[in-house]
Amino acid sequence: DNVKKYFPVVGGVFLRQQGWVHAVDRVSLEVHAGETLGLVGESGCGKTTLGRCIMGLYPITSGAIRFKGQDLSGLDRSAQRRMRLKMQMIFQDPFESLNQRHTVRQILGEKYWIHKKREPNLDQTLARLLETVGLGPRALERFPHEFSGGQRQRIGIARAISLGPELIVCDEPVSALDVSVQSQILNLLLTLQKQMGLTYLFISHDLSVVRHVSDRIAVMYLGRIVEMADRDDLFSNPSHPYTRALLSAIPVADPSMVRQRTILKGEIPSPENPPKGCRFHTRCPEVMAVCKQEEPRLQLIDQAGNNHFAACHLLQDLAFLKK
Ligand code: SF4
Repeated sequence: DNVKKYFPVVGGVFLRQQGWVHAVDRVSLEVHAGETLGLVGESGCGKTTLGRCIMGLYPITSGAIRFKGQDLSGLDRSAQRRMRLKMQMIFQDPFESLNQRHTVRQILGEKYWIHKKREPNLDQTLARLLETVGLGPRALERFPHEFSGGQRQRIGIARAISLGPELIVCDEPVSALDVSVQSQILNLLLTLQKQMGLTYLFISHDLSVVRHVSDRIAVMYLGRIVEMADRDDLFSNPSHPYTRALLSAIPVADPSMVRQRTILKGEIPSPENPPKGCRFHTRCPEVMAVCKQEEPRLQLIDQAGNNHFAACHLLQDLAFLKK
């Protein structure tokens, strides 16, 4: 709810603070139980920072993060730890996120030790866990470097589901993997979601991947949500110029289909000094004078009952918004 995460910029001879990086700026969104909310945007738009804030890996600058209605910042340490049992994260690079000097038994068993969960027959439990993610029990004795990238991500998934979480933040879980392995991991995540009733916040820069797994999609640009809608609605009726540009960049399998491609000019501006008004105005093909002065609000743009929100001055003309 209205989450901000600013990082201090330190520099100069005396290492003084020189400004702030506005990584996440007044972001509000909800993830409903049992669904997958996809969060997409270019590198540096703040999506991973938001995921880490939700997991408590970064303290937030202001705003609130609630899990099942409970404000996580208002809890004492032990209550936070209990609550966090229900929230886990799968990281982008399974090689980086697994301790290379620990065996898989140690990596998976650590969670039970940290959270003081007694398991009379831990080896059997861990073997079952490995089986759930498509690995055999012999993996327990091996080290992460002995596995392929896809297998390592399976170990990362096993670690995330080991203590029965409800919400998993998946941070680019397949972008470090070969394309041939990506679909296996995505399908594993979907199967586990059905079996365990999991809720996912799925972070990715790849819209095709997000389309495959998500029920709803939020599009992020320079620390702000610019559009949010049900998956099919977003793909069939993208309303924000940034979303339209992202969609136009998705490759089409059929070469006979010609699609108008929107090429965005320039680089994403620095989050240290975001542009005034609409943050997308420096690259928007439809920029107007008002865009450079006033920041558009994220508002409901569909009166047919679809939860379709967008933040763009072009949409101010929709008659029902004025009522
Ligand atoms: Fe483009 Fe203006 Fe809409 Fe921003 S508000 S996306 S600059 S048209």
